[in-house]
Amino acid sequence: MRIVIVGAGIGGLTAALALIKQGFDVEVLEQAKQLGEVGAGLQISPNGNRVLAWLGLEEAVARIASEPAGKKVRLWNTGQTWNLFDLGATSRERYGFPYLTVHRADLHRVLVNRLQSLRPSAIKMGVRIDHIEQHGDQVVIRSAGKDLAVADVVIGADGVHSQVRQSLIGSDEPKFSGIIAWRGIVQASDLPAHMRQPYGYNWVGPGAHVIQYPLRGGELVNFVGAVEQQGWEVESWSTVGSVQACLADFKGWHEDVHTLIGSLQTPYKWALMVRDTLTRWAFGRVALLGDACHPTLPFLAQGAVMALEDGLVLARCLAQWRDQPEVGLQRYEAARIERTSRIVNGSAANAKRFHNPLLGHAEGAAQYVDEQWSEQSVKDRYEWLFEYQADKVDL
Ligand SMILES: Cc1cc2nc3c(=O)[nH]c(=O)nc-3n(C[C@H](O)[C@H](O)[C@H](O)COP(=O)(O)OP(=O)(O)OC[C@H]3O[C@@H](n4cnc5c(N)ncnc54)[C@H](O)[C@@H]3O)c2cc1C
Repeated sequence: MRIVIVGAGIGGLTAALALIKQGFDVEVLEQAKQLGEVGAGLQISPNGNRVLAWLGLEEAVARIASEPAGKKVRLWNTGQTWNLFDLGATSRERYGFPYLTVHRADLHRVLVNRLQSLRPSAIKMGVRIDHIEQHGDQVVIRSAGKDLAVADVVIGADGVHSQVRQSLIGSDEPKFSGIIAWRGIVQASDLPAHMRQPYGYNWVGPGAHVIQYPLRGGELVNFVGAVEQQGWEVESWSTVGSVQACLADFKGWHEDVHTLIGSLQTPYKWALMVRDTLTRWAFGRVALLGDACHPTLPFLAQGAVMALEDGLVLARCLAQWRDQPEVGLQRYEAARIERTSRIVNGSAANAKRFHNPLLGHAEGAAQYVDEQWSEQSVKDRYEWLFEYQADKVDL
């Protein structure tokens, strides 16, 4: 069976490795001409590390990752700090896998290296797919206006602006969430010692929040600053802004936040868009995966993790229904759609929680944080995410 995956992002590469492990042969078509040091930090919760371990990548990932000892909530202006949850040994004991943070480029390289060591020519770079069409049991893949290849199964892992999705269901209508996000990386050596602790921090404030966590074993610190703001709606991983503009968006915030922003190497600016969740993403012999079918706001830090889970569940389904790929793809969709929709909706709800106006007033803020980040509320919001077992879930 010829399986073609469109897109060599985190999801497409994971699907390729999982399919090879199930005995399939795959080809991955990627529009980028070369692999580069793009992106910033990703959080990989235990449910994602379960997938990487299943692929045999536990050690390779441990070498490039950081393992925060826990997460803390900090108040935007005073810096008052609360424990959100313990990670490190607690995550390993409770879920069987660690909670890690990685530079996207590092995780991407680990996946590419493994795929190239197994199938040296599996990834074709510089191939942009613009359309796919199904004819009976065959899927025709078009690139640059010409038929490029014919496959038995095509997986659209081509990200938030997916052309495969467009071929299947037409163009989508993203709506601006009213939030823009600044992203960037800081050299830890540029920060004072108290800001180099092995913790993740969620700074919360009225109308904005900041996420801070270590990368590359503590050599780097990742910064994301989300701000409610109108008038700029460019959805891009590569638009560069200025440190001054970022500082202005966090006027009045704690000096640690200003220190972080002042040390950013390159501040990237990104408008956060929302899309309705899809009710269908398997169509005959074509299915979507990752951001192509469930793009999300990043406020549960599950975007990359969902793509990892999708890849493994997809491979298990195609293996179980080896002679009926249409059925395998239907079962993959059925196994994943409810969970991923819940994550997309939960991420949107978290935006309101992180930015609540009550955080503007010292007294109201403390009470609000105590309630919203109580042990029980945190458990209710995160436990079901981290417990999921993509290698065992019913198909
Ligand atoms: C350059 C880049 C930087 C990112 N940086 C961050 C970050 O800093 N923090 C964060 O949280 N998330 C980041 N993300 C998004 C994050 O990786 C995804 O949300 C998540 O990993 C889900 O992955 P995915 O494989 O579904 O999609 P993606 O990781 O977006 O991968 C999609 C892949 O498909 C390729 N592609 C797209 N269209 C076509 C086409 N028509 N033909 C062939 N190939 C195509 C893309 O080049 C890309 O390699 C980034 C994504 C990209 C592409």
